[in-house]
Amino acid sequence: MIMSANRVTIDLDALRHNFREIRRIIGPQVGIIAVVKSDAYGHGMIPVTRALAPEGPAFFAVFELDEALKLKRDGCAVPILILMGARREEISAVVDQGFSVCLFLEQTARDLSEAAQSKGVVAPVHVKVDTGMNRLGVPWTDLPRFLDRISTMKGIRIAGLCSHLAAADDPDNDFTDQQRERFLSAVSRVSSIQIRREMLHFGNSAAVLSGIGGEVGLVRPGLALYGSSPGPRLGGNVRLKRAMSFKSTIIQVRIVPPGTPISYGGTYKTQGAATIATIPVGYDDGFSRSLSNKGEVLIHGTRVPVVGRVCMNLTMVDVSGLQGVRVGDEVVLMGVQGSEEITAEAIAAQAGTISYEIYCSLGKSNHRTYVPAAAAPPAT
Ligand SMILES: *Cc1c(COP(=O)(O)O)cnc(C)c1O
Repeated sequence: MIMSANRVTIDLDALRHNFREIRRIIGPQVGIIAVVKSDAYGHGMIPVTRALAPEGPAFFAVFELDEALKLKRDGCAVPILILMGARREEISAVVDQGFSVCLFLEQTARDLSEAAQSKGVVAPVHVKVDTGMNRLGVPWTDLPRFLDRISTMKGIRIAGLCSHLAAADDPDNDFTDQQRERFLSAVSRVSSIQIRREMLHFGNSAAVLSGIGGEVGLVRPGLALYGSSPGPRLGGNVRLKRAMSFKSTIIQVRIVPPGTPISYGGTYKTQGAATIATIPVGYDDGFSRSLSNKGEVLIHGTRVPVVGRVCMNLTMVDVSGLQGVRVGDEVVLMGVQGSEEITAEAIAAQAGTISYEIYCSLGKSNHRTYVPAAAAPPAT
């Protein structure tokens, strides 16, 4: 088999290490809802969940039903939480499969209740409370009334209450404290059901790395599992290992005279005589066009600049400072080479985005290799 020129490699040991690091800082009594939405942030949901299942997560959280079904078909025995909730046409499948869903509409509760009763089962729901993110959820001020109305419905079990933090990546922003306060006070005003701490969750990666969220029963990290911190100043006491790297190879090297325009539009012109190497990576491979004249890659353990526009499938770099660069030499676009490293955060800063988007786009656009080899499906 001929390997493709571009390879994303996922280190499954790093994922397991990160899970254990999260476990270490929150303590053994707090459950971990491992967020594996968006194909595990581009790392591959199936291999990632197979690697993490033996570590004992309380749930795998996916965004939508499709992902939950895919996990279930793989034999996943860990409970699955669907963050998006259930649309009307999904209710029957959700109830049949026993998935847990986030709940924020009374109509969804009625539909779930009816379907569960007709099938003779009970559907677990996690009530989503909006404490200031203003994205999804029951406004925190309405929580007691919302629960009054749904707690009498048969066939549903309120198994959790959750909220999502809007600014936990900034340790100076006191909105996180405000949101936690709103969540806990809304929960304390509920009288229609018995609420235990073990049912509550609001801590994302940023919270967990800041020591927040572990005061209730569950936390819900995503990014930290993959080895990144959502903010540069978070998690000083946590040693995360980056799981994803991205490599390619040089397919042409040329020496060009001074003043040579490179790539579409000639937005870069060589100053002196220059050596230009061409790499078969472009925006179709998740290497954003906004890295044109901005990005860097590693060749021979040295950082070299992207010159000219990033094309759909090709990118040029200036290797004039290096000796003996040849066709076939390894190029590291993200990851370690020698003593240098290019992180998802560094690429994100150059591309004007966040590491989350870098992982999603690189991971989903390229062939992925797993080390050590991905585990077999769980025995069912
Ligand atoms: C994506 C997501 C998370 C995980 O966020 P990270 O910042 O990756 O830790 C947690 N909860 C919800 C509701 C999410 O959508």
